[in-house]
Amino acid sequence: MAFNRTDKTRLRVAQSRFAACKLGLLSFVVAVVATCATLSFAASAASAASAADVLPRESRVPGGVALVAVAPANEAKPAVTRDGANVWTVKRGASWVAVVGLPLSTAPGEHSVSVSRSGGTGTNGATQSVSFTVQNKRYPVQHVTLKDNAMVEPPPEVIARIESESVHIKTVRSQWRESDATSAAFGLPAVGRLSGRFGGSRVLNGKPRAPHAGLDVAVGTGTPVLAPSDGVVLDVGDYYFCGKTMFIDHGNGLISLFCHLSEHTAKVGDSVHKGQAVARSGATGRASGPHLHWSVYLNGVSVEPELFVNIKK
Ligand SMILES: [Zn+2]
Repeated sequence: MAFNRTDKTRLRVAQSRFAACKLGLLSFVVAVVATCATLSFAASAASAASAADVLPRESRVPGGVALVAVAPANEAKPAVTRDGANVWTVKRGASWVAVVGLPLSTAPGEHSVSVSRSGGTGTNGATQSVSFTVQNKRYPVQHVTLKDNAMVEPPPEVIARIESESVHIKTVRSQWRESDATSAAFGLPAVGRLSGRFGGSRVLNGKPRAPHAGLDVAVGTGTPVLAPSDGVVLDVGDYYFCGKTMFIDHGNGLISLFCHLSEHTAKVGDSVHKGQAVARSGATGRASGPHLHWSVYLNGVSVEPELFVNIKK
């Protein structure tokens, strides 16, 4: 999984992140203007964010995040769901905005969230559908070589374990904890070469596998892993593919997952702060070498972690 990067390409990534940031802000403002048709509202929306509700950059693509205005801010907070999962909803200027995680499997085209409004003129508490458009995105193919073929084609005796862990992990990543303190202004949980990017379709030892639903940072075994944002340790375990694992719940369905750890240093139920060491990296589970795998979930689906880093408060 060699993605050697020179300083020059680092710079290009930094520049493109900046461009993406500008694009995300622009599309948000355009969406807001389209909804409310007032420039003054767009200005107030941009200045209304507090540290606690910093949002990810918008990217309406499979594996991205859509920021969807769902109701006027002078109404009570609406209940928003997508595919039955609660969606993080925050007040931004003159609107309630849903922060919608889009699965990598999302087909390009029109999609929607369900919005239950209470008290709005003519809404009568009814559930409405608010639609938005998802663009296509092609992610690169990543070829990975693993020495242990049992991690590519698991032997029959571990299938039951894998299935039960899969059910457990799905339950954990779909947890919902209402919070007034959720911030998407994440710090990288470890600093190193980004050795595996999010979304790439994976070919493991020549066999096609599910896309890479996280970001890999190449760091040696024992490197401290830092909480990307404030939260509560939700789950720790030792799973077949993920190895030693930790989930951190940042509130409102925003959840971080770390895989391939060598050690957990925080325990379930601990409140952790942004930048606090919570674990140490390693190479447990399905790993081609020591690195940190970091996934970010919103409304139960894995989204691009890089949309959450380098966001100004
Ligand atoms: Zn990974």
